[in-house]
Amino acid sequence: MTAEPETYPEIREAVAKLCARFSGSYWRALDRDMAYPQAFVDALTEAGWLSVLIPEAYGGSGLPLSAAAAVLQEMQRAGCNGGACHAQMYTMGTLLRHGSDAQKQAYLPEIAAGRLRLQAFGVTEPSSGTDTGALKTTARREGDHYVINGQKIWTSRAEHSDLMLLLARTTPLREGMKKTDGLSVILVDMRDARGNGLTIRPIRTMMNHATTEVFFDNLRVPAANLIGDEGKGFRYILSGMNAERILIAAECVGDAKWFIDKATSYAKDRIVFGRPIGQNQGVQFPIAKAYANMRAAELMVREALRLYESGANPGAEANMAKMLAADASFEAANACIQTHGGFGFAEEYDIERKFRETRLYQVAPISTNLILSYLAEHVLGLPRSY
Ligand SMILES: Cc1cc2nc3c(=O)[nH]c(=O)nc-3n(C[C@H](O)[C@H](O)[C@H](O)COP(=O)(O)OP(=O)(O)OC[C@H]3O[C@@H](n4cnc5c(N)ncnc54)[C@H](O)[C@@H]3O)c2cc1C
Repeated sequence: MTAEPETYPEIREAVAKLCARFSGSYWRALDRDMAYPQAFVDALTEAGWLSVLIPEAYGGSGLPLSAAAAVLQEMQRAGCNGGACHAQMYTMGTLLRHGSDAQKQAYLPEIAAGRLRLQAFGVTEPSSGTDTGALKTTARREGDHYVINGQKIWTSRAEHSDLMLLLARTTPLREGMKKTDGLSVILVDMRDARGNGLTIRPIRTMMNHATTEVFFDNLRVPAANLIGDEGKGFRYILSGMNAERILIAAECVGDAKWFIDKATSYAKDRIVFGRPIGQNQGVQFPIAKAYANMRAAELMVREALRLYESGANPGAEANMAKMLAADASFEAANACIQTHGGFGFAEEYDIERKFRETRLYQVAPISTNLILSYLAEHVLGLPRSY
């Protein structure tokens, strides 16, 4: 569907082949039961697709972020849901860029071999979503340990992950202190923690996303699990968040392609008033517009990837890529439902499921308003609004 050669054609072909084993009926059954796509994640892990970012020295493929973007985009384009496992890709940057050699040695080979999962990212709290600096979970140093207390919400995949990258306050907020200072990133090994200070409760949502709320009650974590320097965690998380936004944007482009393919082929086949509905410009134009917006978003994803891979921290491009791609995927989803008429609402077409899944990206991992406010303030120099 793209006008120029796609990056990583071999990877895309192999991922598409794997995804073809997990058809709509597989996802529909999971969606009905709100069940985790274990077989899908196992197959991806076994094939090495979830460890493309891990350096070869630690057993991964040592590929750049654009390879991870290609993997995730193909999953979505095939009608699958990368939300089950994308966090391993986007949390990886924080560990790779800021973790110590000992931490990388301890965890990366196990993750690459598929024996450990790093799929949980604990940032959001009930009273601090967008306002990360206001988070209340604390990690208090006691000898060789941190003692963690507080609560996270929307910690996706926590029940299906061994490790969680946690953002907690290690220095109490004092007057005059920047809200985002004094936060630290700690790698929590959840295998022994459940029942020993860690409680995980699933939250049912409009789509199948395995998200949870997590409670910490004097959970003891070795101090050696601190990533980088104490108090500088927000900075580490921010660089990870740019990777996250770019990867989610790549997924949204994949979703948009899936919706546009579906809408186009249905518009060619469905005969109403004795001719294909796709012959009517009223049906063609919304699909064509969605295509144009998908392509524009795809180009911004490429630009964000180019900058990220040159070592920059492209906040503006990562945010724009995420917003444009999330808008493009939702526009394509809407056009796809409309093209299908009543059938768009029938479960067996998978469109309503994908529609619900892609709607999330207007809000998470960062909402559209906050992206616009970032651009207004940091790119255009307009006064800060909050
Ligand atoms: C299914 C799902 C999975 C998620 N997974 C994870 C995860 O794995 N880990 C994690 O840490 N978090 C996760 N999240 C959380 C997600 O990142 C947050 O929901 C998101 O950042 C928004 O925060 P909030 O829900 O607290 O909204 P709020 O911050 O309460 O905002 C509510 C609304 O108000 C708007 N708003 C707020 N302030 C302003 C302002 N100043 N100007 C204009 N508009 C404003 C927002 O744009 C938003 O639309 C997940 C969320 C969902 C729903």
